[in-house]
Amino acid sequence: MQLFASPSKYHGNEGRGVAVAPLNVAAILRRPMSLVVQKYGGTSVGSLDRIRIVAERVADTYREGHQVIVVVSAMAGETDRLLSMGWELSDGPAEREMDVLVSSGEQVSAALLAIQLNELGVPARSLLGHQARILTDNVHRKARIRTIDGTGLRSSLETGNVLVVAGFQGTDAYGNITTLGRGGSDTSAVAIAAAVKADVCEICTDVDGVYTTDPGVCPNARKIKCISYEEMLELSSLGAKVLQIRSVELAMKHRMPLHVRSSFSKAEGTIVTDEEHLLEKVIVAGVAADKKTVKLTVRALPDHPGVVASVFEPLAEANISVDMIIQNVSKEEHTDLTFTVSREDADRAERIVKDLVESVDAEGVVRDDAVAKVSIVGVGMRNHAGIAARMFRLLADNDINIEAISTSEIKTSCLIEAEHADRAVAVLHDGFALGKPAG
Ligand code: ADP
Ligand code: ASP
Ligand code: MG
Repeated sequence: MQLFASPSKYHGNEGRGVAVAPLNVAAILRRPMSLVVQKYGGTSVGSLDRIRIVAERVADTYREGHQVIVVVSAMAGETDRLLSMGWELSDGPAEREMDVLVSSGEQVSAALLAIQLNELGVPARSLLGHQARILTDNVHRKARIRTIDGTGLRSSLETGNVLVVAGFQGTDAYGNITTLGRGGSDTSAVAIAAAVKADVCEICTDVDGVYTTDPGVCPNARKIKCISYEEMLELSSLGAKVLQIRSVELAMKHRMPLHVRSSFSKAEGTIVTDEEHLLEKVIVAGVAADKKTVKLTVRALPDHPGVVASVFEPLAEANISVDMIIQNVSKEEHTDLTFTVSREDADRAERIVKDLVESVDAEGVVRDDAVAKVSIVGVGMRNHAGIAARMFRLLADNDINIEAISTSEIKTSCLIEAEHADRAVAVLHDGFALGKPAG
């Protein structure tokens, strides 16, 4: 079986990261007097010392003559701390109140950064979601941004201020505070960048770019210089939390170039841009693992038209996205229906399907939390047969059993036992030659 039958413009996988000079990166980064949106994540604003460092960086950017909007996350660990307090008081805290609670984390860091910028002589104003007029739908905990008052933000910038916007939050049409889902400050930043027509949106974080896989898990991971929106979208949806998936969707929709870079160095990071800007396309760009997935199986469901719909419709109504789905071959007119949902949604999904068991005449529901989804992603997979087979072989040769498979044009995912997830990532990363060259 030929796995890498490549037309010349495709690389085996020796790498987009190192050998290849992609597009002229400088051309889409900051030009003189640009409008730059910079987002700083939780670790980057995790202490007063770090806020001082971030303020210096923002001040440098401002003094270089750029207009700057900064979007901040809550200080590291703060969102989790706030969430756990709400859950300590109640088994089912009102989602509206949880949004009021968790959004306070970003309020604190926005104010602290503005204070420190003023201390450095840089005029700065903090803005909460409602002050920046970030209007969302009313889905608490994972709201979607509908509109942002870009004109208002631009005129505030004209007064010479740096704007420090609290990420992760907005308000619905009735003025209720909403939040955008975990990691949502990335989405705040991209949405603001699109609304003000920024030149670039810089996502400043605790790694210096997007890697071929999570560098925290696989030390051999390699920094990617340039990656397409589509590949990044897949990597994000498959577990690479360096960018929230909705931020990539928005960037792609508005063709907003993203620069993912370190908060602690000035080195160039990774550019996320249109596929057409990539001079070289690799077959597999990256490997991701999603350990926050849960498998639910509805046992012995009657196998007749309409049954599957009656399981999934109530899940959709509850805003629960179902990921992998397998319906087994039916035996005696009954079948098992297996699907996966995110861990966040698992309790609600389990409750919903358990409530359905009687009405759909099934035997019961089995839940398995000890699963993980490992995936390979690359635009080059479109033109190459045999990549999925190679993935299955690599897993098999390492005694890793595949419980479910899903594919798209540019990705293949396998559900496996959670305990093998990190090993599977390493095996696939090596197997597709994504690591740093030896020596
Ligand atoms: P922030 O707090 O700045 O938003 P996050 O913790 O949300 O940062 O995202 C950065 C983390 O994403 C990194 O520390 C890294 O462990 C993880 N990560 C997962 N996959 C990747 C990848 N492919 N490239 C880079 N980082 C990744
Ligand atoms: N503070 C929020 C979270 O921890 C949002 C973010 O950091 O992007 O999910
Ligand atoms: Mg994040």
